[in-house]
Amino acid sequence: MRAVCRPWHRPQTILQRMILTNSDIMPGDEDYQALLKRAREKIPQAASSGERFQIPDVELFYEGKTTILRNYMDIAEKLRRDPQHLLGYLLRECGTAGSLDGRRAIFKKKMAEKELMSKIQGYTDIYVLCTECHRPDTKLQKDGRTLVLMCEACGAHRPVMIIKATKAPEVKALEEGKIYELMIEDISRRGDGVAKVDKYIIYIPGTTKGVTAKVHIDKISGNTAFGRVVRE
Ligand SMILES: [Zn+2]
Repeated sequence: MRAVCRPWHRPQTILQRMILTNSDIMPGDEDYQALLKRAREKIPQAASSGERFQIPDVELFYEGKTTILRNYMDIAEKLRRDPQHLLGYLLRECGTAGSLDGRRAIFKKKMAEKELMSKIQGYTDIYVLCTECHRPDTKLQKDGRTLVLMCEACGAHRPVMIIKATKAPEVKALEEGKIYELMIEDISRRGDGVAKVDKYIIYIPGTTKGVTAKVHIDKISGNTAFGRVVRE
């Protein structure tokens, strides 16, 4: 038996479905049109022009001083970019060495989730998102010596600018007056414990090698910092 096709059986938008499931109003009714209009006015602009592009959250774990990005390939695939190209950018931006390992990426430095996410966002802004329609459905093409980002969604194209358009506020790895949980990696010649965070070397008196301690950072001078153990 052929299904009877009623006008309201046409494919519906989420909005239309919301209204239809929450009332007895039919699409042909005047009230329905008014409701739809009112509902449309309530949603923000971005939501009505399609779902917002989401970079997958980074899944990190640490082995000694290296950071392992477990879902690296998922991210590269979502961005639809060459994994080596993305990795090259991240290593340059983070100032470290690293490599691909199956579907994972390995960075030879301890990296915070926030830092890595902001670098991937930076890459996405430069090499993935269309500046016209903000969709990620783009591809990179060489035009002579210029790299061009072609948008498959709206047809716009633009040269890829390697300048940093939006510089994220720098997150300092270490700040005076704050408390950090630090691993004492070594003992200095003067007998102080030595810990390392990012570019900083922190001297902490009264600790032993191999322990993890809560350390209050008293002073930072260049790349050297001085802290004391906080006892609980
Ligand atoms: Zn576009």
